[in-house]
Amino acid sequence: MTATLPAEPPARSARSSRIPVAVLGATGSVGQRFVQLLEHHPWFRLHEVVASERSAGKSYADAADWRLDTTLPGDSANLTVKPLGSELESTLLFSGLDSSVAGEAEEHYADRGCVVVSNSKNHRMGADVPLLLAEINADHVAAIEKQRQRRRGYIITNSNCSTMGLALAIAPIERKWGIEQMHVTTMQAVSGAGWNGVTSLAILDNVIPYISGEEEKIEVEPRKILGAWDGERFVYAPMRISAQTNRVPTIDGHLMTISLAVRSDVPSIDEIKQALRDFSGVPQQLRLPSAPKHPIHVLEEPDRPQPRLDRDRERGMAVSVGRIRPCPLLHIRMVALVHNTIRGAAGAALLNAELLEAKGLL
Ligand code: NAP
Repeated sequence: MTATLPAEPPARSARSSRIPVAVLGATGSVGQRFVQLLEHHPWFRLHEVVASERSAGKSYADAADWRLDTTLPGDSANLTVKPLGSELESTLLFSGLDSSVAGEAEEHYADRGCVVVSNSKNHRMGADVPLLLAEINADHVAAIEKQRQRRRGYIITNSNCSTMGLALAIAPIERKWGIEQMHVTTMQAVSGAGWNGVTSLAILDNVIPYISGEEEKIEVEPRKILGAWDGERFVYAPMRISAQTNRVPTIDGHLMTISLAVRSDVPSIDEIKQALRDFSGVPQQLRLPSAPKHPIHVLEEPDRPQPRLDRDRERGMAVSVGRIRPCPLLHIRMVALVHNTIRGAAGAALLNAELLEAKGLL
């Protein structure tokens, strides 16, 4: 962990009080993470919770069936769940909505002037919608200006949860040496499928070698994240990606094995490790509240990272990378781990919103 932080003061919200926010899909797997992470957030305060008609009108405590290993925050427990589409007082909305409803609902609120920070897949590939991974492409917020030409508010998105770990793990390599092609195989935790996604009888004593739509996302999203905004459009990074995805019986933490070929002279394993250790970005420079000190932790033990032991590094916001070694087919092999509901979802969305606030975009 050798990266040094620039001697800049920590970013502070210019506001005297915390910004009231709403969570759409607040009862779900990602929604509960939002509620948990917002409890002590220095800039944002949970003001409204929104879910389906099934939950609307109930107290959050009754609707959510709280399943995280911290106590449900008292203030949040007493909020009344609002139905999706209702008038909201908050103008900053975090979305953990099921993708069957997220597309239309997020547009509805953005058209009415809200800033929607989304985890859902629906708008990720939008031509003027940033697919923001704050350490890598903070400059993609420039696309917001173009989006605002067609609506009062705007939408920004998080990547797919596995993509988040993958893109962070490869970003230093892409920057220094360029990546020509890559193969990734994921072992994804059950929380990634949402509360009702996988039954225990399907996943216990088992591995399911198929996650609907996941491989397609992993094969394209890193190219947008690692690409450029040229003022008019996103120019995708030219790498080719092949993905295979598996659901495994872990609760949190997506593990993935990665093999890749670079475009230039093949770096040594030590050079790769150093590039990963040195990697940091705008969130670290600005010292945003949710930013990990070191976005990438390089592990030297031969049997790490492991989901149970390494997913919570830096409050779940750091990606762990280990087993970095030569690949006999391509050039480099490694194993990466990301906490799917924190860095892969709610935590990353909070970091993105902090970036917007620090840049005066809220
Ligand atoms: P989940 O546990 O199934 O939660 C879905 C949420 O959407 C619930 O709050 C649910 O409310 C709400 N919802 C469902 N149908 C609705 C409707 N017709 N109208 C209004 N609200 C409705 O799913 P999740 O795992 O949290 O995922 C949420 C989103 O984040 C998905 O788009 C997913 O792809 C994405 N994502 C998930 C992860 C992860 O690791 N889990 C990571 C990255 C991105 P009710 O409780 O009232 O039904």
